[in-house]
Amino acid sequence: MHEMSLAEGILQIVEAAAREQGFARVREIRLEIGALSGVEVEALRFALDAVLAGGVAAGARVEMIDTPGQGWCMACGQTVAIAALYDACPRCGGYQVQPTGGMEMRVRDLLVE
Ligand SMILES: [Zn+2]
Repeated sequence: MHEMSLAEGILQIVEAAAREQGFARVREIRLEIGALSGVEVEALRFALDAVLAGGVAAGARVEMIDTPGQGWCMACGQTVAIAALYDACPRCGGYQVQPTGGMEMRVRDLLVE
C-alpha cells in the first residue's frame, strides 16, 4: 500500500526536528495510528526499518499507539465509536455513519538524546 510513503513522511518529520532541535539520535518514535487510517502496521514497521536505516533514527524503537475510530451517526445525532470504516452504528445499527476520528497516522513525539 502507501506505507513506504508514510515512512518517508515520518523520516522527514524526524529529520526536520533533528535540525531544529539539534539532537544527534532518536531512541524512540511514537506514532498514533488511527483505527480507520487503513495503515498496515506490519508493513509500516517494515518500511520504517528500511527508510530510517543510516539516519538519525537508525535503530530507534517505534511504538505504535492505536487511536479509536469515531463517527457521526446521522440517525442518532451523535458521535459513536466504530472499529472500521463503513461499520454500522453501535447504537441504532444504521449505516449513515460519517467517520470523524481515527482516520490518520501522525508522529506523537520523539525520545531523543
Ligand atoms: Zn445510530
